[in-house]
Amino acid sequence: MVPRETSPSGSSYGVRTAAELAAAEQPYHDDSTPLARAAEHTVLARHGARTRPTLSRPERTRVFVVANQKGGVGKTTTTVNVAAALAQLGQRVLVIDLDPQGNASTALGVEHRRGVPSTYDAVVDGTSLAEVMAESPETPGLWVVPATIDLAGAEIELVSVVARESRLRKAIQGHPLVGDAEAAGDKRFDYVFVDCPPSLGLLTLNALVAGEEMMIPIQAEYYALEGLGQLLETVEMVKAHLNPTLEVSTILVTMYDARTRLASGVADEVREHFGDQVLKTTIPRSVRVSEAPSYGQTVMTYDPGSPGALCYLEAAREIATKGAPAR
Ligand code: ADP
Ligand code: MG
Repeated sequence: MVPRETSPSGSSYGVRTAAELAAAEQPYHDDSTPLARAAEHTVLARHGARTRPTLSRPERTRVFVVANQKGGVGKTTTTVNVAAALAQLGQRVLVIDLDPQGNASTALGVEHRRGVPSTYDAVVDGTSLAEVMAESPETPGLWVVPATIDLAGAEIELVSVVARESRLRKAIQGHPLVGDAEAAGDKRFDYVFVDCPPSLGLLTLNALVAGEEMMIPIQAEYYALEGLGQLLETVEMVKAHLNPTLEVSTILVTMYDARTRLASGVADEVREHFGDQVLKTTIPRSVRVSEAPSYGQTVMTYDPGSPGALCYLEAAREIATKGAPAR
């Protein structure tokens, strides 16, 4: 069966479409055809098994903030799928849902009705993250701190709280499984991802202060770069005053439609601006990706052989292989 979201081959724009990716020589799977690869990933994912070969672990926990104050650009989709892909590749991963909408919690199949222990408790009341996280039922090795609607109030409640912009940092750094092997042992988290709300308020500020690496998903659409200036100014402000270690390490072009010139033009422009920070892998627009959350799943388990899932798997590999920025 040919995947639905294949595209005309031969894009000259330096981005890889799903079809090109599937056709590309892949050093880690030199013995299999694209269809075999898709089938293998499907079988392994269905059985909750690790995808071969697993990746080596970073020396210490890498904390990513996934932010872009625009809504609908793919922050949540990218967070949950990259996180699930890394878990399938043998990494231990924690997702912190920082958006009161709780979309990441939904996609990861974790309860987030009012009253469930959540990000709100950690950020506002100082409850330890270990007490509010739950394992994602579909993906072993992937843990989630869910967001309930209470978090909507936190934006205002935090204003009068002590150290209001570093509450999340304290919660993450206070987790016994965050750090290097010496401090946090073998069960440490390899990756933490914070899924931000679509605004630059106190919640997002908390994430920027907590994170070491920032991942910005950019939708391949008109006005893709609009508003990014404001986001980058905020990052500079945070670096200067609150968190000197913050780096924009990863930019991912999402919802890429290889049939349109517009999409490739946007991808080119993003690469011109950001160079090496932009992942080579681009995520195609795919119905399977958008359907998965309504089944309480990521596309990585919902349809592991689909182009969207294979591209997220490749993006996860790229992130892991590139490693954390040098300090
Ligand atoms: P954000 O978190 O930035 O608001 P989302 O990740 O929720 O953005 O994505 C916005 C919408 O676009 C959602 O309905 C999602 O299902 C859809 N979407 C995201 N990525 C893709 C994709 N690659 N293909 C198709 N739909 C997508
Ligand atoms: Mg979102």
